Amino acid sequence: MTRMDRTLCNQFVIAMLVIITVAIAMISGNVAAQEKQQDTQDAPLDVHEIAPGVYAHQAPISIMDARTGGDLANVGFIVGDEAVAVIDTGGSVAIGRRLLAAIKKVTDKPIRYVINTHEHPDHIFGDAAFDMPGVTFVGHKNMPRELQARGAHYIETLRHTMGDALLKDVRIIVPTLLVDQDTRLDLGHRMIDLHAWPPMHTNCDVTVFDETTRTLFTGDLLFLQHVPVIDGSVLGWLKNMDALAAIPARLAVPGHGPIGVAWPQALADEKRYFTTLTKDLRGFIKKGDDITQAARDAGKSEADKWRLFNDYNPRNATAGFAELEWE
Ligand SMILES: [Zn+2]
Repeated sequence: MTRMDRTLCNQFVIAMLVIITVAIAMISGNVAAQEKQQDTQDAPLDVHEIAPGVYAHQAPISIMDARTGGDLANVGFIVGDEAVAVIDTGGSVAIGRRLLAAIKKVTDKPIRYVINTHEHPDHIFGDAAFDMPGVTFVGHKNMPRELQARGAHYIETLRHTMGDALLKDVRIIVPTLLVDQDTRLDLGHRMIDLHAWPPMHTNCDVTVFDETTRTLFTGDLLFLQHVPVIDGSVLGWLKNMDALAAIPARLAVPGHGPIGVAWPQALADEKRYFTTLTKDLRGFIKKGDDITQAARDAGKSEADKWRLFNDYNPRNATAGFAELEWE
């Protein structure tokens, strides 16, 4: 072997060693990344104690797709001396399980109630994670009827957008403790007040008020940053907003957006949005414009004040038009 050959041979060996080292680093890096992803998939949900014994998780603002993993509605729980009440369970069973893990980290007291603030999948698809002895599911008196009409449809539609893997364990659980007007639940030296609302965000909205800390879980009766979604009655929402604001809460957890916000100041943005939207719609109706134009232009001045505006405002405008047309 000449000196030249030896040099080439050495260079080849060094190059191979570099390639092998890089490959090993890449493979172990990949494994670490996969393990990290797996960890976050199983990790307890990130919750904050916003008042003594009151915990909430702030979900990212997003439409319901596979990337969210079902984490797109705020959820929480309240711990009394004897038991725990869970408020909403997230948009997949995986999120429900992670919420359960977060509760177990905080307390070993039994979960007595799971309160569904309304029927929307991003709030109830985690319910199956809590379907165990001793747990009572709680909802608006209209919930069974609404779930009967829409539950199966929600699962089928979302199977397409979220994928089979996220949907496979989802079950619609019909609440058995129904809130007609006002219901008080005792968690052991801690009373929480549930109120069933007339049609506003949906036809089955329930709020949860913790008397001890004056914290209010609004469900989707309060949206922050995420444009409000009207699936009940915009007129009902506007009409009942003063009654909602009169709940003597200090802090609120909205269905979407920042948690632990000052109450009732937090209602100002959505009140302005509904007022603008209905004013625009009444203008279009008076001029004799059709629903297509209203869907395109009503509420437009609010566009840069909200996220997901183009995803939901046309739908809100269409629903509002149909409602206001018959005023
Ligand atoms: Zn909702």
